[in-house]
Amino acid sequence: MPLIALAAFPILPAPIQAQEAPRLLTRAERSDFQETSRYDEVMHFVTEVVKGRPDMHLTTMGYTFEGRPIPMVVVGRVPDASPEAVRASGKTRVYLQGGIHAGEIAGKEALLILLRELSQGRHSQWADSLVLLVAPLYNADGNERVSVLNRPRQHGPLGGMGQRANAQELDLNRDHLKLDAPESRSLAKMFVEYDPHVAVDLHTTNGTRHGYHLTYSPPLHPATPRSIDALLRNRLLPAITRAVKEKHGWDMYHYGNAMQARGSLEAGWYTFDHRARFSNNYAGLRNRFGILGEAYSYATFKERTEVSLWFVEEIVHFTHAHATEMAVTARAADEVALVGESLPVRGTFRRSPEPVTILMGETEEELNPYSGRMMLRRTEAQTPQEMYEFVSFQSAEWERVPPVYFLPQNLQDLRLRLEAHGVETLVLPEAASLEVEEFVVDSVTTSPREYQGRFEQEVMGSWRATTRTLEGGTVLVPLDQPLAKVIFTLLEPRSDDGFVAWGFLPGNLRAGEPYPVLRGSRGTAPRLSLHGPMPDS
Ligand SMILES: [Zn+2]
Repeated sequence: MPLIALAAFPILPAPIQAQEAPRLLTRAERSDFQETSRYDEVMHFVTEVVKGRPDMHLTTMGYTFEGRPIPMVVVGRVPDASPEAVRASGKTRVYLQGGIHAGEIAGKEALLILLRELSQGRHSQWADSLVLLVAPLYNADGNERVSVLNRPRQHGPLGGMGQRANAQELDLNRDHLKLDAPESRSLAKMFVEYDPHVAVDLHTTNGTRHGYHLTYSPPLHPATPRSIDALLRNRLLPAITRAVKEKHGWDMYHYGNAMQARGSLEAGWYTFDHRARFSNNYAGLRNRFGILGEAYSYATFKERTEVSLWFVEEIVHFTHAHATEMAVTARAADEVALVGESLPVRGTFRRSPEPVTILMGETEEELNPYSGRMMLRRTEAQTPQEMYEFVSFQSAEWERVPPVYFLPQNLQDLRLRLEAHGVETLVLPEAASLEVEEFVVDSVTTSPREYQGRFEQEVMGSWRATTRTLEGGTVLVPLDQPLAKVIFTLLEPRSDDGFVAWGFLPGNLRAGEPYPVLRGSRGTAPRLSLHGPMPDS
C-alpha cells in the first residue's frame, strides 16, 4: 500500500490481540476437548503458569512408582512452596487433586484451567484467607497409559485417556490406609507436612444414569468428626449446589447409584463405601474436610471439565468465606480425647429418615468413531423419583479406644506405615511387665481371591485382660494424638480397613492364639506417663 494512502487515515492503535502474550491453553482446549494432557504437557503448563507470579510456586509432592515427580502448585501469599512457609502463613489450606483415576480426567483439565485463571488475577481475594495446594495430576503413571478403549462408555475424550490404576496395577483410591503405592506415601507425606484443612479429590462417575452433572460426597466413615460432617452436609455442600445451579443451571447432589430391592437390600439411592481406603473418607478420619467430586460420565468431556471447575471454585469460595471457622473446626477435632470412648470398627449404610427426590436421567448411544464402540451421552431429560437415600454410614460394631497399642519388634513394617501417616510412636527402652489386653483369635477367614495385591482376612475373637512381659524395643503407639482414629482403624483386629483386613499378618493369625498387637488396659497410660516421655528412636 502506498504511504500516501495511509496518511489519509487517522493512525489506529495496534489491535489488542497483538500485544497480548499467547494464551496458555490446555491440550483439551487446543483439541476442542478431543484429547487430554499428557504428563509432559501438564509439567510445561504448570511451569509456564507460575512464571512472573510471586504468589504461585511449583513444587513436587512426591514421586510415582515410575519416578515421575507429582506436581503441586502452591498458590497464596507465601515466600516459597515449602510446607514450613505454607504453615507459617497461618492461612487455611485447601488441597485440590485431579487424576487419581487417570481415565476420569476432567479434574486434571479443570485444575489446569483454574491455575491459569489464578495466574491472570482471578479470585485474587482467596489469598486473603487461603493457601491452595493444587495437584492436577496425581496418578501421573496411569495418565500416560492412554488408550481409546479405556472407559469406553464414558463420553470422551475421544482421542483416548489414561487408565485407572497406577503402574503397579494398584487402585490409588483403595490405598490411602495401607500405603502400598509410592503415590499414596507421597500423599500421606503431603498431609503430614502441609496439613491441608480441606482436601478435594476429583473423579468421574460410573454406573447409574442420573440427572446431575456432578455428584459429591463428604467423608463417609462413621467415625468422622460430627463437626466436620455437619458443616459439609448442612452448609458447604448445599451452598455450592445452589451456587452452581444459579450461575450455570446445572444440578449436583450426593453421589449415589439407584438400586432395586434385592434380598435384604432395600431399594434406594446408595453411596459407595465408608472405609478410609477412599480419599474423602481418609481425610475425614484425619479430622479434615474431605470432599469427593464425581463429574457425570455421560456428560461431554468439555461439560465434565466445566462442572469440575465450577465445583472446585464454589468449594474454595465457601472455604474462603469461612476460612477461620473451618481451620478451627479441624484443629478442635484433633484435640478431642478419644481414649476410653467407643469408636466403630465396621460400618453399615444409614437410611434417610424420609424419602428424598432423586433426579434420574437418560442417555443416548453415540459412536466413538475411533474406538468403534458406543459411548453414552446424557440428554436433558430429568425425571424426579422419590426414594430413600443411603448417603451416610453408622457403626455396625464398636470397640473401646485403648490408651496405647504395643507392636512387637518383628512388626516394624506396620510401625513404618503408621509413621508414614504421621503417627508418633515410642519405644519401650527395656523389658517391662504390664497389665495389657490381648485379642484371642477364634477363627480366621482368608479371601481366596487376590485384591489390590493382597489377600484380605477377617478374624473373629475377643479382647481379654492379662499380664505380659514386653521386650525392650517394643513399639508403643499412644492414642492421645490427633491421628488416634487412623491408628485405631489400622490396628484393631476387627477393623474393616486395618492391617488384618488387608492381610498384612497372614502368618500371625491362628485360631486359639493371640493377635500379636497388644493394647494397654485403662491403667496403662498413667503408668507409662510416670516414666516421662520415652526416647523416640
Ligand atoms: Zn474414580
